[in-house]
Amino acid sequence: MAGIYIHIPFCKTKCHYCDFYKSTDFGSKIDFIAALKQEISQRKNEITPEQIESIYWGGGTPSILKIEEISEILNHLKNQFIISDLVENTLEANPDDLSIDFLKNLKQLGFNRLSIGTQSFHDHDLRSMNRRHKSDDAINSVKYAQEAGFENISIDLIYGLPNQSLEDWRKNIAIALSLNVQHISAYHLTYHEGTVFYEYLKSGKIKELPDELSLDQFKLLKKSLEDNGFEHYEISNFAKDGLYSRHNKAYWERKSYLGFGPSAHSFNQKTRRWNVSSLNKYLKAIAEEKPYWENEVLSFQDQYNDYIITSLRTKWGISLDYLQANFSADMVVHFENEANVFIQSGHIILNESQFNLSTEGLFISDKIMENLLYIEEL
Ligand code: SF4
Repeated sequence: MAGIYIHIPFCKTKCHYCDFYKSTDFGSKIDFIAALKQEISQRKNEITPEQIESIYWGGGTPSILKIEEISEILNHLKNQFIISDLVENTLEANPDDLSIDFLKNLKQLGFNRLSIGTQSFHDHDLRSMNRRHKSDDAINSVKYAQEAGFENISIDLIYGLPNQSLEDWRKNIAIALSLNVQHISAYHLTYHEGTVFYEYLKSGKIKELPDELSLDQFKLLKKSLEDNGFEHYEISNFAKDGLYSRHNKAYWERKSYLGFGPSAHSFNQKTRRWNVSSLNKYLKAIAEEKPYWENEVLSFQDQYNDYIITSLRTKWGISLDYLQANFSADMVVHFENEANVFIQSGHIILNESQFNLSTEGLFISDKIMENLLYIEEL
């Protein structure tokens, strides 16, 4: 099984928290689609003859494309790869791009999953994040998608926002639950360098939420969603009826994927590759048939670290049997020693030979992962 990721690097406006590669200049959209198709053709043999089980259109904002443009790229993919009849085909979308007609057309093209960037149902949050939609757009977009026949809809929420009270967050969760979606991704705000929020934070214009309030928001999220039939299957992801994001689950299971477009990453267990994060450089290099990517071969240590990072974040956790079967004795001893500290502090739960994060552990997962990584001393 393998997946495909398509990066559509255009956004109408830039959100204040976002560090994904994107451009607000649509002047080269036509050239981009031509270059993207060229990249797809050039790399079609990289994972054949595997069937493609998931296609994920991210960005940027894939929903700014016209339906004809999406269809053109999708048809090109179908001509180059063996796509499973049961493929999960997800489009990331901004609420204000989703008209009923557009959604019906997407459905007809074979899209069977939407990931809608609702982020919050409070207009004051949306304004502060520089989102271009309003709360009503977010609610309506989900209703339109359901009307158009989508039965697998994910929505995004952000918490830990400056000044976000527990009550505000509770209302967001309640509205999200009332929408009857199958999947919710809820991310704690991160202040990425280079974003407007990062600058605001540095200049004192905004303040980080206290850790205790962030943790309370996380606990409220987890409890409310689990009480309403959602399974917490990854740090930031909740699904009903086993409708996990197949595409993201494949990332965490370290299955192969090909990423097309500027800044897109690819992985095949042995190597990682990433395309240049610049639309102009990407277009120029493709036109001149020059490399537009870098790659690295994963060392044994990288493979261990990848396993730790990707597994610990999921409900399936880290398997001691897997570690023992695949990595060196030194690595296993290092893991057990470090994990033991977090078992004692209640951040990791050990079930037979399976290590999982507790609720408190999920909240400080980055710190825990850092300690579990294996860095060989030179
Ligand atoms: S969050 Fe999405 S819409 Fe906003 S700038 Fe980032 S990629 Fe664009």
